[in-house]
Amino acid sequence: MPKMTSHSWGNNKRTFAEHQTHFQIPNVAETVVNSSSSGVIPRGAGRSYGDQALVSGGLMISLTQQDDSNDLEVHNSGLISVKGSMTIGKLLDATMPLGWILPVIPGSQHITIGGALAADAHGKNHWHQSSIASCCEELNVMISDGTIIRCNREIENQLFWATIGGLGLTGLITSATLRLQRIAGTSVQVQTRSYKNLSSLLKGFEDVTASEEYAVAWLDLLTSHQPGRGVVRSASIYQHGQAMAKPKRFNQIHIPKPRNLNVVLPPICRSHNNLKYLMSSKARDLRVTSIQNYLFPLDRVRNWNHLYGKSGLIQWQFILPDKETSLLEEIIMGFSKTSALPALAVLKRCGEASESYLSFCSPGWTLAIDLPATQDAYRYINKFNSRIASAEGRVNLAKDSCVDADLLDKMYPKLAHWKTIQKQFDPQGIWQSDLSRRLLLCN
Ligand SMILES: Cc1cc2nc3c(=O)[nH]c(=O)nc-3n(C[C@H](O)[C@H](O)[C@H](O)COP(=O)(O)OP(=O)(O)OC[C@H]3O[C@@H](n4cnc5c(N)ncnc54)[C@H](O)[C@@H]3O)c2cc1C
Repeated sequence: MPKMTSHSWGNNKRTFAEHQTHFQIPNVAETVVNSSSSGVIPRGAGRSYGDQALVSGGLMISLTQQDDSNDLEVHNSGLISVKGSMTIGKLLDATMPLGWILPVIPGSQHITIGGALAADAHGKNHWHQSSIASCCEELNVMISDGTIIRCNREIENQLFWATIGGLGLTGLITSATLRLQRIAGTSVQVQTRSYKNLSSLLKGFEDVTASEEYAVAWLDLLTSHQPGRGVVRSASIYQHGQAMAKPKRFNQIHIPKPRNLNVVLPPICRSHNNLKYLMSSKARDLRVTSIQNYLFPLDRVRNWNHLYGKSGLIQWQFILPDKETSLLEEIIMGFSKTSALPALAVLKRCGEASESYLSFCSPGWTLAIDLPATQDAYRYINKFNSRIASAEGRVNLAKDSCVDADLLDKMYPKLAHWKTIQKQFDPQGIWQSDLSRRLLLCN
């Protein structure tokens, strides 16, 4: 199959590689085993922002995202087996009408289950549900010799914990058994509160986590007088009927492929933020909407990533423990002294870390910032990444584009153990990605 240019979701990373999609699992095994390419990486929906699912000169391998949702069966215990290639959206569409929900849901319905597990993804409820590892009971993983290993907390548990959060570098998740949770409705009641500065917002956010199921904050990092002002949107399942439960139509707005278009410019972002803050301040206190509308705001615009133009965007997501909120404030204030443009900033609260060796979330605050991929943005991120590592924080490898490999041991204390397990299951170094090469993960 000919090689072609593929992009990261952020459009800031490109690669020239082969991409094969197979319907049958034995065909995937055959392709992996007989691949003459230098490096193979599983690919899901390609929604990772950086070079996680790209491999220059190698082979990206996917299972077809066939619509097999009709075959899904939820056991009385809430257990369900799904293919690694199934999207979060398809899973929810099939199970929510039956009264079941995935307890941990990342912010886009287009992400695959395999991709979410490989990132040990978190949702807007990490402080009480942890990451997606918490609802994963078992995996079937195709390792580099083509065999499929069943692993869980008891059987082959090292492979289990190395694969969740392992960014495709231990093998391809062909299927997973997930534990769903009962829900009493398919709507949420959303509460919107705006805050004039970061400290009052952190306090307000902390307060809602005591009673609400989900919470997320949008921060305005572009006002010169109140950087860190923002809006907390919290939600809980609406248990009084199904009123207004219909999801809005997703993917209706289409942004064309970037040529010379780049609308993410300082004056436009500032006006957008001012308007958003003003409208949120006036928003009705309580609103009922579908779970999907609340959880997937970005999915309303298909290809919103194209707004960032040809050079694309970086998503910089880091986490800091509570005792380091002054560093969080410093990072936020520092944007006024650089031309790096924090176009979108989203804050979440995190609780217990999962046991997976490369899991990102741990107790504290995580801030995810989308920035046009400019030299100033890379400089700004790199300036603070070493401070984040020293503060017992870390950057999210599932989204990273530029972290310094030397910082990883500090950020991820179980990295050396993960490398040992990775090597054990892939002694020939078949699984590789541009990220693993950049960060020397599989040497
Ligand atoms: C709009 C948006 C919102 C997001 N919100 C969140 C969020 O709230 N929380 C969060 O944690 N993340 C979030 N993400 C990041 C996302 O969860 C990860 O990037 C995820 O890995 C993407 O999955 P994918 O199916 O697109 O996989 P890809 O981008 O194709 O691959 C991502 C990684 O997963 C590996 N992988 C993919 N499929 C498999 C498989 N079957 N077996 C083994 N490895 C595999 C790849 O090798 C690669 O390393 C968001 C991303 C976007 C674009």
